[in-house]
Amino acid sequence: SLEEAIAAARPAPRRSRQARVVWGSRVVTVGGDAPVRIQSMTNTDTVDVIGTAIQVKELAIAGSEMVRITVNTPEAAEAVPHIREQLDRMGIDVPLVGDFHFNGHRLLTDFPAMAQALSKYRINPGNVGKGDKRDRQFGQMIEAAARYDKVVRIGVNWGSLDSELLAQMMDENAARAEPWDAQQVMYQALIQSALSSAAYARELGLNPDNIVISCKVSGVQDLISVYRALAKRCDYALHLGLTEAGMGTKGTVASATALSILLQEGIGDTIRVSLTPQPGEARTQEVVVGLEILQSLGLRAFNPSVTACPGCGRTTSTTFQELAKQIDDFLRAQMPIWRAKYPGVENMKVAVMGCIVNGPGESKHADIGISLPGTGEAPAAPVFIDGEKALTLRGAGIADEFQVLVENYIEK
Ligand code: SF4
Repeated sequence: SLEEAIAAARPAPRRSRQARVVWGSRVVTVGGDAPVRIQSMTNTDTVDVIGTAIQVKELAIAGSEMVRITVNTPEAAEAVPHIREQLDRMGIDVPLVGDFHFNGHRLLTDFPAMAQALSKYRINPGNVGKGDKRDRQFGQMIEAAARYDKVVRIGVNWGSLDSELLAQMMDENAARAEPWDAQQVMYQALIQSALSSAAYARELGLNPDNIVISCKVSGVQDLISVYRALAKRCDYALHLGLTEAGMGTKGTVASATALSILLQEGIGDTIRVSLTPQPGEARTQEVVVGLEILQSLGLRAFNPSVTACPGCGRTTSTTFQELAKQIDDFLRAQMPIWRAKYPGVENMKVAVMGCIVNGPGESKHADIGISLPGTGEAPAAPVFIDGEKALTLRGAGIADEFQVLVENYIEK
């Protein structure tokens, strides 16, 4: 029936193990029944303690629930506890994730204060030594995680896939009589690298709940194929992200497309949108995009949503576009205070519409909405509150008067 078809629109989420990423009293659960988490990464030199702490704070305030920092040298490792200290002093309890490649085994062994100041380690099996050394180096990192009870993301990336494993799998396929697809083998190698590393980590004593997996690629269709297969092959929490998505509109759309398809299928427990900031663009933009993806899918709510029409030949002026932006900016600016003061305010819906065609209808669906007059309409803007026409605004002060009405509505 039509009813059943509509009800079946969203598949049940994949139920994974739950990891607990902890700093002090702050616990960020990932997977299981936890909401899909947002995370991001700094682009400062980790040795710059103040600069890194400030960027972590900005990302956390924007909505990042974990922030990853590069730990690539002994100097960076030395800096980590000081960054943590600065954050604690600023009242920012966001858990820090250390990003390790090549020398992580030495750093995690030689700098115990750093190993403890981090809440989670990202380990790339493709970059942890080669051949027989790989297991020993990987093992040293896992032992540190087990010792300090930290979560580990086994993060495989096709830009740094274990070349020996890939070569071995390519050779095995080349020896087969039937035709084979090199791309498929690459996907299999990504997944196998992640899952065999996870199995080895468990053998070394790492709690399986403390394992998060990612297999990142930069193509939308590739990412979807890999994660669909990965989701079926394990019950670990999955970190989802389109790696090297790129800049601006391209990166934003590619990330939103790939992540949305997988999230809609219930795949993905934490997301990172990897955007290359454009000159002058804030690093926090990737967090904003991540939040919008989750809110658009109805998976989480972070800010009241503003429904606005695109405008057309019926729009009398740019007033309604300006009003939509004014209200959106106003709501976002208030949220740090309102979130604590008015629980549930993030679920609120405001409509700002350009004419009578869809204006009253859309405004009635919102908690509070305004329908501005279009061409040929009387110069009056009806305001709807809780689905009923409440009053009509007129004259030059409509924007500010509507903003006051929105504020009063929230306070009420
Ligand atoms: Fe145009 Fe009116 Fe539709 Fe807005 S609501 S797009 S102004 S017809």
